[in-house]
Amino acid sequence: MIEKRDFYINGQWVSPAAPNDFEVIDPSTETPCAVISLGSEADTNAAVAAAKAALPGWMETPVAERIALVEKLIAVYETRTEDLAQAMSIEMGAPIDMARSQQAGAGSYHLQNFIRAAKKFEFDRPLGDHAPQDRIIHEAVGVAALITPWNWPMNQITLKVGAAAIAGCTMVLKPSEQSPLNAMIFAEMMDEAGFPAGVFNLVNGDGVGVGTQLSSHPDIDMVSFTGSTRAGTAISKAAADTLKKVHLELGGKGANVIFEDADEKAVKRGVLHMMNNTGQSCNAPSRMLVQKELYDQAVAEAAAVAAKVEVGPASQEGRHIGPVVNELQWTKIQGLIQKGIDEGARLVAGGTGRPDGLDKGFYVKPTIFADVNNQMTIAREEIFGPVLAIIPFETEAEAIEIANDTPYGLTNYVQTQDPARANRMARKLRAGMVEMNGKSRSAGSPFGGMKQSGNGREGGSWGIEDFLEIKAVGGWAAE
Ligand code: NAD
Repeated sequence: MIEKRDFYINGQWVSPAAPNDFEVIDPSTETPCAVISLGSEADTNAAVAAAKAALPGWMETPVAERIALVEKLIAVYETRTEDLAQAMSIEMGAPIDMARSQQAGAGSYHLQNFIRAAKKFEFDRPLGDHAPQDRIIHEAVGVAALITPWNWPMNQITLKVGAAAIAGCTMVLKPSEQSPLNAMIFAEMMDEAGFPAGVFNLVNGDGVGVGTQLSSHPDIDMVSFTGSTRAGTAISKAAADTLKKVHLELGGKGANVIFEDADEKAVKRGVLHMMNNTGQSCNAPSRMLVQKELYDQAVAEAAAVAAKVEVGPASQEGRHIGPVVNELQWTKIQGLIQKGIDEGARLVAGGTGRPDGLDKGFYVKPTIFADVNNQMTIAREEIFGPVLAIIPFETEAEAIEIANDTPYGLTNYVQTQDPARANRMARKLRAGMVEMNGKSRSAGSPFGGMKQSGNGREGGSWGIEDFLEIKAVGGWAAE
């Protein structure tokens, strides 16, 4: 059993102020795999004080030096990729090959993108030729609390830490208590890379404890959060009294609009994208909207693809999907599958219960519902499991209406071989991101949502900007 009870505060691993053990459960086996501590107010205060004390020095550190430290971090990251993959595999159930390539791979990718963006970013520049005595200075927001989820842990941690570090913010990271091990390896990497004491701090804890303490703390200037819309609302309320900046990356209910002229791989691609990471992605294409002419064929194909998706333990190599993260999620997903059946959707693959032969572990059957209408619970709520809802439509206008009829607005997908239609759709879909014909967004492209999917953007130059204040100066002397 792994025992990792300490927190990383002011450049040192320190014991929690009061013991409060928490067992991390391996979702593949339902058995404890590690013990950590949940922090208390004293731990939160110590980490915030360290970050506050380190802020002036870090803000004054030239950007080039901050970039050089992130470059060093990337070099250290490469040496610890296997450790990160093993940790994520055991604590949140990502199958080991996928944990290596996608989960751990995402971290170095984002850090590299920040380096490229930072080298071009104008932190300090004139307002314009018309105003030679006006200067625009970008400076760090201040002390940032970073609260991250379990579903893409290293993806989220690097998106926040990389941007905050380059912007000149100091930080307190509170990773999800469901997946703390990878975050603690990351803290070891920050230490090895040589970030000054206090610039980066880590305190483990749960949402009601450390999460709330950070969100309401008077010395925290900004909270950057990724997770559920429920927690996003709680954080916004807790942050309101101190009027801190709140950046939110929340849930989604992405539409994947498949027109009758879609390429022949579109349906299969959509199903496999939904199943990736066992459906636990905020940008999952969880509503497949299919045009009438293609509908019956698409439903049959989707059911056949789902039936072939293998489910198995995270330690096993291969392209299968793993369990969902914990019992709470498993139970919630089972309830939503049952609700789909009760509300009259047609189950064409999967269903409730565990897949055959997997009696222990939080395994869910890859599930497809057809004949879903957009008012059913399974079309409205983020299920966060391997469950796809197929909805028929007739016209382009109807597809846009259904796709936009959701409280969320994170990622939508369009499949058509008519380029003019694809671009028209991209403009009309109310979401922070639109991906067409299987082409994902490129390096440095901003990630984030509209409506109840959140605010702000992560990644590349937009990600750095979110951790910066804009200072406008008049009467600037020529240098
Ligand atoms: P969550 O939002 O509760 O947890 C995410 C992080 O927020 C964790 O670090 C948690 O400790 C912290 N947190 C929780 N409540 C908090 C509070 N009141 N104040 C401050 N911090 C708080 O997510 P979960 O319970 O792990 O998952 C539940 C649902 O959230 C899922 O079913 C899914 O719909 C959604 N989710 C979405 C994303 C995403 O990327 N959009 C990620 C994870 C979970």
